Amino acid sequence: MEMFRIVPPGNAAGSFAEGTAGKAVTLKGHIPQDVIEEIRSRSNIVELVSEYVTLKKAGKNYVGLCPFHQEKTPSFTVNPDKQICYCFGCGEGGNEISFLMKIQNISFPEAVRKLAARRGIVIPEERPAGGERRRDEERAGLIKVNRLAQGFFEKNMMSGKGKQAREYLAGRGMSDSVVKTFALGYAPEGWRNLRDHLTALRVPDELLRKSGLVVFKNERQVYDRFRNRIIFPIENLSGEIVAFGGRELGGGEPKYLNSPETPLYVKGDNLYGLFRTKDEIRSKDMAILVEGYFDLLALWNAGVQNVFATLGTALTRRQASLIGRFTRNVALLFDGDAAGRAAVERSLPLFLEEGIAARVVILPDGSDPDDYVRKYGRESLEGLIHKAPTMVDYYIDGIMNNADRFEGTTRLARETIAFIRNIPDVIQRNLFIKRCAEKLGLDQGMLKEEVNRESRRGGPAVPERRPGSTVDPVELYLLYLMIEFPRKIPFVRESGILECCNEPALRTLGGRIVEIFEKRGTVTMAEIMNEQTEGGVTDRLLAMAVNDPPEEAIVDRMFHDTMKKIKTHWYRERHRALKRRLVEAHERRDAQQCDNLLMEKAQLLNQEQKDHILRGEQ
Ligand SMILES: [Zn+2]
Repeated sequence: MEMFRIVPPGNAAGSFAEGTAGKAVTLKGHIPQDVIEEIRSRSNIVELVSEYVTLKKAGKNYVGLCPFHQEKTPSFTVNPDKQICYCFGCGEGGNEISFLMKIQNISFPEAVRKLAARRGIVIPEERPAGGERRRDEERAGLIKVNRLAQGFFEKNMMSGKGKQAREYLAGRGMSDSVVKTFALGYAPEGWRNLRDHLTALRVPDELLRKSGLVVFKNERQVYDRFRNRIIFPIENLSGEIVAFGGRELGGGEPKYLNSPETPLYVKGDNLYGLFRTKDEIRSKDMAILVEGYFDLLALWNAGVQNVFATLGTALTRRQASLIGRFTRNVALLFDGDAAGRAAVERSLPLFLEEGIAARVVILPDGSDPDDYVRKYGRESLEGLIHKAPTMVDYYIDGIMNNADRFEGTTRLARETIAFIRNIPDVIQRNLFIKRCAEKLGLDQGMLKEEVNRESRRGGPAVPERRPGSTVDPVELYLLYLMIEFPRKIPFVRESGILECCNEPALRTLGGRIVEIFEKRGTVTMAEIMNEQTEGGVTDRLLAMAVNDPPEEAIVDRMFHDTMKKIKTHWYRERHRALKRRLVEAHERRDAQQCDNLLMEKAQLLNQEQKDHILRGEQ
């Protein structure tokens, strides 16, 4: 397979494909590839791990108690030949760089810099490539615009205009220190307050548009997105403001409004409040997840500061992995209504996959976290969290309560099996089976066999896939982009990314698109409609094609981001498959096979790091 290169998108059409393909591209943070190679060649994983784990020699390996999960007998294995570590208990591990990332909750470039510093390896300051530089400049410009806007909102909050907003916040019991810490602001009534303010500061229209703060509907209709709203700045983990949320004050719709996606802000990538609360989360080794801005602020206000919030969407895998950098213990504090329960169930597999132990706090009398903490106070809430059932118990109790007494165990077991099949991580799955068996009074071995039988029947157990029905929308989007912008097809072909698509139907269709393009120099949606595909893929492409295509200026970025997502997913699947085989080999006590698989894992990690996929990178 060809290696996928992350190529910085340029602004000029076409430069993306021709100008930079094949050239070595620097990492984010501009660390040249040879530095990483040098670090890798001088890797000393035994020494590094020893700083965190007491290691004992066991054959040619070393073993110790895993730093990533609680255990009494050592499962954490360090292999000095391959410069890799792996835990047979929880599946964590990696090479030197990834170990340091995990144990210190730091990003890839940070880990590389630390290791370089230890070894006295100098990282030359390299000028980033043109496209990347433009992208950095755009980012910096947008962050600046957001900061200016935040200053404007904050000033309005404190002025006469913000009286109603301040009264509203006071009415909800918010102290001044909350308003200050979270930099709450007020967007005044009117269509062009912010726009005029920023234009007077010479912010170009193009940046205003890209920031999402000002809506450019057409030449005549240009207006502030946020009007008469309380404003919540949304920060990333570096404390940069990447977006805003706004709550209406005058009965307007919708009640909550967020920034649209921008080059800075991708929905589902950020967690509200985390920049302010991460230290508390790390020191308590526990995080409370709430849904809304005010839930978070109310808890903080009451002195519960190890809290974070999703931003009006269901928890995503990226968010789960983000919080996993700070703690492996999460308590979900959702409304007791049906929507809240559904949200809990959706997030359960994500937490299981991340190896996060989650508890579910059920608030009495359908109160929400904000009400509850104001009425009963911090200690009462902490008591509830302390007593909260684990998610697994919550799940099992939930189906038990719904199950008819007479239908009893059979149906329960069937539902449980169906659920377990959807747990992607094999180790988590085994733990879940164990707990369910205990809870339901079933034989563990039998339940496991049943799950595996069901999985085999349904093809690969995770995720459940009928052809086409669960086509990854990101993969589908790549095909859509190819049809919409055929000039990019050679670039896509060169990158080898089509081979990384999970869905065979999409790989086939992608291949056909390339063929048609090579024969005719172009390709149209109409031609694609003639292709035979499984699972209604062409219909879904057609449905996408009826919308307006992305603007020319962001085409390169769309390709770049889409391909990067597919590649990241590809690696995740490879790691997951290896983990599954490692568990199996370990259960069979097949040391030779374990060894081979660890070697494969080391190679995969190296390839991944070479590919500059910054895992867990914000
Ligand atoms: Zn472990």
